[in-house]
Amino acid sequence: MRIILTGFRGTGKTTAGTILAEKLGLPFLDTDRIIEDRAGKKIPVIFREKGEPGFRELERQAIAALPPGDVVVGTGGGAVLDPVNVENLRRGSLVFLLQAGEETIARRIGGSDRPSLTGRAPADEVGELLRERQPAYLRAADFCIGTEGKPPAAVAEEMARVMQEGPTSRLSRESGMRFIGKLPLPESDRTALAALHGGKGDEPAGICAIAGYPCSHSRSPALWNRLFARYGLPYLYTSLEWPDIAEIIRAARELGIRGLSVTIPFKEAVAGLLDGIDPDARAIGAVNTVVQCGGVLRGYNTDWLGVREPLRDLHGARAVVLGAGGAAAAAIYALLSLDMEVTVLNRTPEKAEQLAGRFGCRAGPLTSFRAVSPDVVVNATPVGMHPDRSSLLSADDLDEGTTVFDLVYTPPETPLLAIARKAGCRVIPGTEMFIHQAREQFFHVTGIRVPEALVRELV
Ligand code: NAP
Repeated sequence: MRIILTGFRGTGKTTAGTILAEKLGLPFLDTDRIIEDRAGKKIPVIFREKGEPGFRELERQAIAALPPGDVVVGTGGGAVLDPVNVENLRRGSLVFLLQAGEETIARRIGGSDRPSLTGRAPADEVGELLRERQPAYLRAADFCIGTEGKPPAAVAEEMARVMQEGPTSRLSRESGMRFIGKLPLPESDRTALAALHGGKGDEPAGICAIAGYPCSHSRSPALWNRLFARYGLPYLYTSLEWPDIAEIIRAARELGIRGLSVTIPFKEAVAGLLDGIDPDARAIGAVNTVVQCGGVLRGYNTDWLGVREPLRDLHGARAVVLGAGGAAAAAIYALLSLDMEVTVLNRTPEKAEQLAGRFGCRAGPLTSFRAVSPDVVVNATPVGMHPDRSSLLSADDLDEGTTVFDLVYTPPETPLLAIARKAGCRVIPGTEMFIHQAREQFFHVTGIRVPEALVRELV
């Protein structure tokens, strides 16, 4: 297994990495040294001659040419800002993020001859770059190790322990495994989970899962496990189908689960169990993605991006959202981000008014659909989902050229889409939302940007 160390300058990647490599009997490589050797110049000279873009290109080449296995690699602090580098670094590897506070880093790198990347004073630059890079560091890492107040040997020791035993204590894992024992899991998942962190060669090193009730019908495990195989990530994606989200989150902490896709009925309730919520998820009021690093769980929402992406060419359109639940909230947020004029229509009009009030848009009962005459319709109700064969709209309601997006994805051609197609509308199936939200979710959990065509092919 290849070990990659990432993090800001001054977090001890080279010192702790060299000690870890010695401990494991592996060579240590430093990507900055490789770049200097290949260019025959010191990094400050490369920056002076080629600027930061020239340096980044050399860095990309050096990372793409790294040997595939049994080596410890320290990377430059900005390397993981580029998803292509993350893809190359993560293949067949475990990635550790070494962390330290702003002041500690500024003190550790004081007097360095590295050129400024922001033109600001060194102490200010550390803070600015740390804040800018933090999301990329968290996405790219499998495990986060705090280095504050620890000698490099202790940091190396901690990484070796995590590699052998996982990021949590034995007692925690035993408690998490007791929870797993209660779940309806395939036997192969159960075996893989039991072997986890046992230091057994090819077994997965980490877990991701869907959390819902019910969720055994989900397409996510098949898609994610194929993506993990495609990108060489040592992960198992399993299914945590259980009625109590608090118990699921507790087990996620105990087992050090890296990522969760959260589905019905937990998207709202999960937020209160996490350590941090991304601003988009907070505004929508729902979390569908949880990422864990260093024992800290953060919540994100990618559903809104799944609605936004297929509609991005319809900036400023007049839109109707049918429904007033969680999917409707994500849809409204997406449509407003495209400057659309949004009206929310719902079976229970009071709920439509409440939701519309949160976002400052109009509301009404389903019967007022004709009065709006929208350019875009988004169905965010379960109406039309297998085995239901009904539609909230008839052909008379729809004008030719209207865009109709049904968030329901089973079946792919819902009764609403069949009617809309006949009426000459542009139709977008719910699988489009699934594809785009899953792609964004995979990015949050791994830092890898999967091409849209590949997700489409695997779905
Ligand atoms: P939800 O919170 O339960 O909301 C359901 C909404 O649909 C409510 O406003 C409800 O109206 C309305 N509704 C339910 N049955 C109805 C009926 N027979 N006639 C009229 N309105 C009805 O559900 P959600 O989480 O927002 O999800 C809604 C749908 O979005 C799901 O069924 C799913 O198919 C889809 N979805 C798709 C994706 C994807 O990736 N494609 C992702 C998420 C969700 P009342 O307020 O009157 O009860």
